[in-house]
Amino acid sequence: MMLQILCACNYQDQDKNTVANTDTAITATFVAYQKTLPPPLPPQRTSPTITPIPTETKEPTLTPTYTATYTPTVTPTRTPIVPKAHPEQLPLPRQDFANETHLFYGRPMLEGNNYPVSHYRYGMTWDGLLAPHLGVDLANDKGSMVVAIGNGTVIYSGNDDTELFGFRNEFYGNLIVLSLDQKWNDRQVYALYAHLSETDVKIGQKVTQGDIVGKVGESGAALAPHLHLEIRIDDARNYMSTRNPELWYSPLPGTGVVAGRILDKNGLFIPGHMVKITCTDQGVRWVQTYWNQWTPPDDNLSENFVFSDIPEMQCTVESEYAGDIISQSIYIKPQDIVFVVLQHSF
Ligand SMILES: [Zn+2]
Repeated sequence: MMLQILCACNYQDQDKNTVANTDTAITATFVAYQKTLPPPLPPQRTSPTITPIPTETKEPTLTPTYTATYTPTVTPTRTPIVPKAHPEQLPLPRQDFANETHLFYGRPMLEGNNYPVSHYRYGMTWDGLLAPHLGVDLANDKGSMVVAIGNGTVIYSGNDDTELFGFRNEFYGNLIVLSLDQKWNDRQVYALYAHLSETDVKIGQKVTQGDIVGKVGESGAALAPHLHLEIRIDDARNYMSTRNPELWYSPLPGTGVVAGRILDKNGLFIPGHMVKITCTDQGVRWVQTYWNQWTPPDDNLSENFVFSDIPEMQCTVESEYAGDIISQSIYIKPQDIVFVVLQHSF
């Protein structure tokens, strides 16, 4: 599938609505993401103060009827505990795009909620209160059925009390790891399901997409029942091999994905930065750019934000940085990705 690529880049001195085929004007060279584990910063997921789902977010109208909320009740301070990176600390964006998407897996919830929690998408930190997130959280009631997102083989089913999948044990609780049959560019792709109340498959078992593999819970470092889903590439046990799941599972019917880069005047990623997406359904959606250098981007896109499940319609992606407001008009296409580059002049 071909990718739409749009650019509002001051370095190209082009109209904001001009469609660009490449971003070759980004002259920075790619610096590989550090493969070692990050310092065991967070996530003290045991004591952040959590605010409710933001009111400015309007979910797509295709939202299934689901009412459970993800509002863990904890208190103390709202002082962020995770500092943002400085742009200079982040890897440089790749120069090239590959006009190829890989939205080929299914969704992990049989019924219930398949939308990620908005404050804690991939690379986000719940406003600095939690560790940079290397998956998506789907808030669902305990016991909700979780299914295989593709055909594959169970390579792990159990808890992580002694087996290490994150930066520490007793982090994911009961988890399942599937090795998926559909590879990408000959590279092995894995799906990791965490915080389950129970696992219903055994190591070595073959599964078909849609098979029930476990049930939602709050085991490990979870504050409330939800499914934490990760996509990993090449190495199922490497915490730094994750990729943004919203670029791998299929958007819900009638919806598509916007992904992109928010850059400063030097062409560096701006971390932890609000991106607004205003659409013709009057909805204002938002996402924050990846918070620090411990969030691997896509190998094709080298993005620093993704927002999926937006219904087909006209939208405007907007970024405000140091008083400079730039925007890009886009059209969301079902089952496809629109890629946007917004570069500020400050
Ligand atoms: Zn999570």
